[in-house]
Amino acid sequence: MDGHIVLTLPTYMDVAAAAKRIEGTANRTPVLTSRTANDEIGAEVFFKCENYQRMGAFKFRGAMNALSKFDERQRAAGVVAFSSGNHAQAIALSAKLLGIPATIIMPLDAPAAKVAATKGYGGNVVTYDRYTEDREAIGRNLADKQGMTLIPPYDHPDVIAGQGTAARELIEEVGPLDALFVCLGGGGLLAGSALATRELAPDCKIYGVEPEAGNDGQQSFRSGSIVHIETPKTIADGAQTQHLGQYTFPIIKRDVTDILTATDDQLIACMRFFAERMKMVVEPTGCLSFAAAREMKAHLKGKRVGVIVSGGNVDMERYSAFLAG
Ligand SMILES: *Cc1c(COP(=O)(O)O)cnc(C)c1O
Repeated sequence: MDGHIVLTLPTYMDVAAAAKRIEGTANRTPVLTSRTANDEIGAEVFFKCENYQRMGAFKFRGAMNALSKFDERQRAAGVVAFSSGNHAQAIALSAKLLGIPATIIMPLDAPAAKVAATKGYGGNVVTYDRYTEDREAIGRNLADKQGMTLIPPYDHPDVIAGQGTAARELIEEVGPLDALFVCLGGGGLLAGSALATRELAPDCKIYGVEPEAGNDGQQSFRSGSIVHIETPKTIADGAQTQHLGQYTFPIIKRDVTDILTATDDQLIACMRFFAERMKMVVEPTGCLSFAAAREMKAHLKGKRVGVIVSGGNVDMERYSAFLAG
């Protein structure tokens, strides 16, 4: 991070304000429990099910919060985002609900279902060649020339504050926790969850969980500065980020207990568990948090444990192959 730039980090007050702002548009997602999970872990486990959020993942919270804060000029010029995943759908849907034009920059080879979903929410999709073109340059160009506001998927105070509303709802509903497990890509959900948890359950241990193949967050956390990696090979496509952000990292460094990892095989086992025992569809990335809680069970005996299930958007053919495999 550039030591000369002083960033103003979001705080719990921003999470509380975000909760007000998105109330009524975002779903207050259910907190589910499972006797089988409790018996296995030897703890009381509370699953906050963001797979039941609008558009199928927590990303709606951050997008809706960020877009709700646009002024007149920003609303007229529109929003631009680059993503082939859940952030694209979150921005497109939030923009539609607020009557703001949205341009989403997606790779030419993005899955047809994701392009269709984004267009279905009214997003104007601009494609680029991921091998020859730079999506950030395309996004910046649209932002500069047409006055659009670029909203990144995680490294933005309003996005972080919005994502924090899920953990806030969880603790409001079930009371203080001893440990909270949160998956980690660029760290928007983890940073927001940490802001909410440090305020509402100060003694709670907070664990970020990322794919073993892409443990840049763990390396960054342990070394004290942001580590960049190549795009990791993992089935957890929502966590294939190459580095933490300038806003997310300082919060994670300050407030998080540790960063853990999970293997693809552990994610598949969790996907099966959720399908078989809890009758719910969870995408691979959404399984990271529970996978780590299972590994940590020796330390969780008799505790109250929160697990944020981040999303449920997975192609059905891919999903059935995982379950069959
Ligand atoms: C984006 C995403 C993540 C990672 O979130 P970050 O804020 O980038 O850490 C995890 N799970 C799902 C389902 C996602 O869409």
